[in-house]
Amino acid sequence: MTPNKEDYLKAIYKLGGLNELVNNKKIAETLQVAPASVTEMLGKMKREELIHYEPYKGTYLTDKGMHAAISLVRGHRLWEVFLMRHLGYSWSEAHEDAELLEHITPARLTSRLDNFLNYPAYCPHGSAIPHPDGQVDLVPMQTLNLLPVGVNSHVRRVTEEKELLDYLQENGIVIGSSICIIGMAAYEGPLTLDLEGRRVQISYKAACQIYVDQTEGL
Ligand SMILES: [Zn+2]
Repeated sequence: MTPNKEDYLKAIYKLGGLNELVNNKKIAETLQVAPASVTEMLGKMKREELIHYEPYKGTYLTDKGMHAAISLVRGHRLWEVFLMRHLGYSWSEAHEDAELLEHITPARLTSRLDNFLNYPAYCPHGSAIPHPDGQVDLVPMQTLNLLPVGVNSHVRRVTEEKELLDYLQENGIVIGSSICIIGMAAYEGPLTLDLEGRRVQISYKAACQIYVDQTEGL
């Protein structure tokens, strides 16, 4: 399945296209499509006034594009909260089905869902849910692999990718877990963690996709 226009809007939003130019290469990488497909879709989106497109420089969202992207991201993250809280979904299942639901969720349903869930600030994977006007509450974070050994921190966000989510959930990692690196094997080898008093080992690759509180003074 090729990504549709809404996936492009979300990708540009996540790559910072609210206030800076995002280049085509990054969009192609994110969506895993050929550069030619990106150029074609951006042409369409420009004609529909969803983006400003400067050839050879990049793209950013117009007001219209920004509102559309925000409502998609809100829909996605609110559905994830709903699916996990009320239907017993796993971390990866919630993300998978939210990908589908976000495309068919009218604004009225998003706002009722928000109200029903009592205005959650984060999705179950720790990503901030933007307010309807696009404001987000940003907390400074760093990836776990950069946390110095022996320093206590907390898991705040994880990258939303199916295999990673299943792997982390199997290891008992949840948002808010207290975490401390006990040891780090040489040459990007596995990390030994103290996770809520339990000893857990995870790969270096996974540690690069786990975000923890920013270490003070860094
Ligand atoms: Zn999520």
